[in-house]
Amino acid sequence: KRMGIALVGLGGYAGGQLAPALQQTKNCYLAGLVTGTPSKAEAWGKKYNIPQKNIYNYQNFDEIAKNPDIDIVYIVLPVSMHKEFTIRAAQAGKHVICEKPMALNAAECREMIAACKKANRLLSIGYRLHFEPHTLEVMRLGQKKVLGKVTEIDNGNGFTYRGDPNAWRLKKALAGGGGLMDMGIYAIQGARYTLGEEPIAVKATQEKTRPDFFKEVDETIYWELKFPGGAKSTGKSSYNNDWGYLHAKAEHGTFELEPAYGYGGLDGKVNDKPMNILNINQQAAQMDDFATCVRLKKQSRVPGEEGLKDMKVVDAIYRSLDSGKWENV
Ligand code: NAD
Repeated sequence: KRMGIALVGLGGYAGGQLAPALQQTKNCYLAGLVTGTPSKAEAWGKKYNIPQKNIYNYQNFDEIAKNPDIDIVYIVLPVSMHKEFTIRAAQAGKHVICEKPMALNAAECREMIAACKKANRLLSIGYRLHFEPHTLEVMRLGQKKVLGKVTEIDNGNGFTYRGDPNAWRLKKALAGGGGLMDMGIYAIQGARYTLGEEPIAVKATQEKTRPDFFKEVDETIYWELKFPGGAKSTGKSSYNNDWGYLHAKAEHGTFELEPAYGYGGLDGKVNDKPMNILNINQQAAQMDDFATCVRLKKQSRVPGEEGLKDMKVVDAIYRSLDSGKWENV
């Protein structure tokens, strides 16, 4: 059976990427919608041929429990709403994909993991790059020490924010933070999956060149991570710089990705020679994999625990900005 997915929150990512990807998936399909905006319910329902009985709003969402068409709920809301809707979905008996960053902080992530475990439902985070071939190659090169042990990683992710100054991404209560939560999480992941190790401590500094715009959230953050294997790891995130690269230096060579984190096509080099790897639809691969996990009752390769690991680093980076010191993860 193809698994039915309901998208919760019909904003930019759901409309621009996930719904189109669900037209290409083989193991799952777009079966339901959850939105607070009646006009979107109507337009999307027509466009994607979704029956009225599979369309919910945030108030009647829990009735989804009675709907056998929906196997998986995919949460694509502002970060502050991730915990509530993950827990409500699991309690309604649905498996859950929750977008990154998983939640406002690590404590919320733990609650979400516990709730899904208690409801005996699978939880996965929208880490599409774990299904992306250039990224899988970087994981192989780094983790299998193909060019020897990785000794240095430098990476960064960011874009120049020019959007609505009232958007949720600029409100601390809704977003949790700024460029670090939204973009930096990929660079933290990049270091973790290149090394196949968990960082033990972090030291961070920040810079704000547009303080009037980024009143509540961070603009640009620079950090250094301490890994048990001793690799030197520097990273950065921004809402004011167009970054998206990963450079790794190993004992016997180098490898890199640029772009490293987007979904418009990645590119990479090993020892300065092109990787020549084809790009795929990352979101389709990610959702198809989770549908298979649900069918086989098997934990996703990007479970809630993976989101928690990143949020522990994010929390430590914010603590380091406050203390000015190294903070344990
Ligand atoms: P968006 O602003 O375009 O969409 C958010 C949706 O939530 C909108 O439909 C909005 O109507 C709805 N919403 C409900 N309550 C709201 C409230 N109180 N305030 C604001 N909006 C509210 O955002 P987006 O870019 O689609 O991001 C949604 C989630 O997806 C975020 O967690 C984001 O980090 C994630 N995302 C992931 C990727 C990726 O590549 N994995 C890319 C983009 C976004």
